[in-house]
Amino acid sequence: MAAQQTRILTGDTPTGNLHIGHWVGSVKRRVELQSKHECFFLIANLHAFTTRADRPDEIRRDCIEIARDAIAMGVDPEQAAIFLQTEVPAILELTYLFAMLLPYNRVMRNPTLKDELKVKDLKDNYSFGFPLYTVGQCADILAFRAHGVPVGEDQVPHLELTREVARRFNKMYCGVADKAPDEEHESLGGVFPIPVADVGKVGRLIGTDGVNKMSKSLGNAIHLTDTPKQVKKKIGRIYTGQDSRQPTDKGETDPAKNPLFQYLETFVDDSDQVDEIRRRYAQGDNIGDGEVKMLVADAINTLLDPMRARREQWASDDDVMDVLLDGSRKANEACEETLAMAKDAAKLRFFPRSVQLG
Ligand code: ATP
Ligand code: MG
Repeated sequence: MAAQQTRILTGDTPTGNLHIGHWVGSVKRRVELQSKHECFFLIANLHAFTTRADRPDEIRRDCIEIARDAIAMGVDPEQAAIFLQTEVPAILELTYLFAMLLPYNRVMRNPTLKDELKVKDLKDNYSFGFPLYTVGQCADILAFRAHGVPVGEDQVPHLELTREVARRFNKMYCGVADKAPDEEHESLGGVFPIPVADVGKVGRLIGTDGVNKMSKSLGNAIHLTDTPKQVKKKIGRIYTGQDSRQPTDKGETDPAKNPLFQYLETFVDDSDQVDEIRRRYAQGDNIGDGEVKMLVADAINTLLDPMRARREQWASDDDVMDVLLDGSRKANEACEETLAMAKDAAKLRFFPRSVQLG
C-alpha cells in the first residue's frame, strides 16, 4: 500500500460478538492502520438481515456489542469512524445502481457466496436479499472511495467483485479507457479507486470444530466475551482429528494437519518453543494435545485480558451510541460526496441534498 494517507474501509456483520478470528484476520490490521490513514469501520446491520430478518432485537443488540468489542480490541473512536450501515443512505442507493452493472450470473458465481449458502445451511430457501448483499458490499467499500480493505481471506472474492464494479463504472460513466491500469483509474477521472484487499497474517483462522472457518454464526468461535475458563474449555474440546496423527511415508506425523497447530503458531509468541513442539510432535513424541492445548489457552487468555478490561470500561451503551452517532456522521460526509460524484457521472443528480443525523 502506498505510503501516503489513503482511505480504509472494512466492517463486520452484527451476528454475534467478535472473536479471535476477527482479531488475526482484520481487526489487528485496523488498529495498525488507524493512526496513519482515514479509517471507516462499518457495522453491516442490514446485511445481518440476510440470515436473521426475524430477529431484529438481536441484530440491534449486536450492533452495540460489535462496536464495544472493536473498541476493546484497540480501535480508537477518536481516530477511526465506527458507523452503522443503515444510517448512511448513500450506501443503499449505490447498491441499487451497482446491481445494474453486474450480470446476475456473475454474482451467483461468487465462491464465498456459494460457500456461505452451504455452511449456513440455507439450501434453496435463501432470500433474494442474500445474493444482493454481495452487491451491497461493493457499495459499502466504494461509497468511501476506499483504497485498502483489511479483511480475512474469505472476503477476497467479494473484493474482486467490487474491483470489477469500480472498473465498469469508471469506464462506462467517466471515460476511463478500457485497458487503463487499476492504479490510474482515479487520476484518469474515474470516480472510484480500484480497492485492494489487505489480508491479515492469518487470513483464515479455523474454528474450534477443526473444520470450518471460525465464524460468529457457526458456534465454533472463541469470543472476546468468553471467560478465561470458557476459553480453556473450548480449546480443550478442539477436534484434532485422527488423520492428523497418521504417519507420512517417512513414518512421521504431520503437525500441519492438526488444527491446534494453527492456534499454536498464531497465538504463542515464543517461536523457539513452537519450533520445539512442532519438532517433537512431528517425530511422534507423546506430547499429548493436553499440554499444547494448555499452552494455547494461556496464550489466548493473555491476548484477551487487556481487551476484557477495556470492554469493562465501555460497559455503558450510551457511550457506545455516542461513538456510533459521531462515526455515522463522518461516514455520511464521505459517502454523500461520493454519491454526488457518482450521480453526476451517471446523469442521475438533479438537486443538492444533505443528510442530518441526531
Ligand atoms: P458470520 O458467521 O456472520 O459470517 P463471521 O465470523 O464470518 O460472521 P464477518 O462479520 O463475516 O464475521 O467478518 C468480519 C471480518 O472478519 C471479515 O473481514 C472476515 O474476513 C474476517 N474474519 C471473520 N472470520 C475470520 C477468520 N476465522 N479468520 C480470519 N478472518 C476472519
Ligand atoms: Mg462471515
